[in-house]
Amino acid sequence: ICREGVYNFAAGPAVLPPEVLERARASLSEWQGLGYSLLEAPFTGDEFKTLMDATRLQVKSALAVPDNYQVIFLQGGASAQFSLVPLNLLPPTATAGYVETGHWSARALAEGHRYGRSHLVASTRGSGFDHVPAVSEWALNNDLHYCHITPNETANGVQFPEDPDCGDIPLIADMTSEFLSRPVHIERYGMIYAGTQKNLGPTGLVIAIIRKDLLGQARPETPTVFNYQAQTERQNRINTPLTFGIYLVHLMLDWLEEQGGVNAIHPHNIAQSQVLYRIIDEDDFFYCPVIPEYRSIMNVCFGTRDENHQQRFLAEAEAMGLMNLAGHSHAGGLRASLYNAQSDAAVAALASFMADFRRRYG
Ligand code: PLP
Repeated sequence: ICREGVYNFAAGPAVLPPEVLERARASLSEWQGLGYSLLEAPFTGDEFKTLMDATRLQVKSALAVPDNYQVIFLQGGASAQFSLVPLNLLPPTATAGYVETGHWSARALAEGHRYGRSHLVASTRGSGFDHVPAVSEWALNNDLHYCHITPNETANGVQFPEDPDCGDIPLIADMTSEFLSRPVHIERYGMIYAGTQKNLGPTGLVIAIIRKDLLGQARPETPTVFNYQAQTERQNRINTPLTFGIYLVHLMLDWLEEQGGVNAIHPHNIAQSQVLYRIIDEDDFFYCPVIPEYRSIMNVCFGTRDENHQQRFLAEAEAMGLMNLAGHSHAGGLRASLYNAQSDAAVAALASFMADFRRRYG
């Protein structure tokens, strides 16, 4: 829990609701009347099995996931999926499509090259990743086994304005930094995966939602613990799962439900980001490199036009308790991450600091 007057804008791991941290803390004393803590509870026990099944159902319910999709917990973080998606879903001679809209989709593409043919369907690199190309501009063809996208680019602050429709080509999405921040047309996707360190808390844990008919194509060399079908068949208990991480996800899904679910949190997220974008756009002191309709509601990336102001901005912000506002190391600039748990007080404090900073140095 942040000290009073300290606001955390980190891109991940990121801010969590104080009440969730309190509930998590209680589980460290004793869990489920077992006489020991959650951290000490065996994953093979009935209590943990029940928790895991319930958490899977919570994910399905939060996003209205149809029955022909499976929810899987995986380890290794979202980056591991850059390799595991082709190992599980791409036959060695098939071609995967990639849409490149920023740092993380470029990383997925670079890794994908190692496992087979990849085809760059569309890229906005030439314009500095300032927008998302419309599906009508993507070079899709029926030979593509699937098409990979990153709907929210954490480092560049670019977000798809809607779920694309690729027809029969399965769409695979790395939703790490927007997972559960908005309603999703699940049926447009073959698979969604997300590292949980943004909107859900724990690091190293990945939630994947995969259409069941896509299971069963894994290459023989795929490690069993990373085989989507094997994990499905064994209810994610092939090896020791991330027990505390899954518990934290369960608590965060309870909290999300208390907030009214994704339908309620989405407009709230939009409103918070608009507070900052409004200040950025007011005059020429700040700028945002992303065209307005593609700006992320999760990661507000911006800068000061005069680069000399940037370090001073960060130092003064930190002195005011506004923490972790530096941009991603590859993108530079400034970034305020506004995941589901970000408080209105934090956004108001940052907005007020930005306006004051501009008054003093503009
Ligand atoms: N994909 C996106 C969109 C991300 O934002 C990140 C991390 O910030 C990753 C992948 C990498 O996640 P991990 O560190 O869990 O491998």
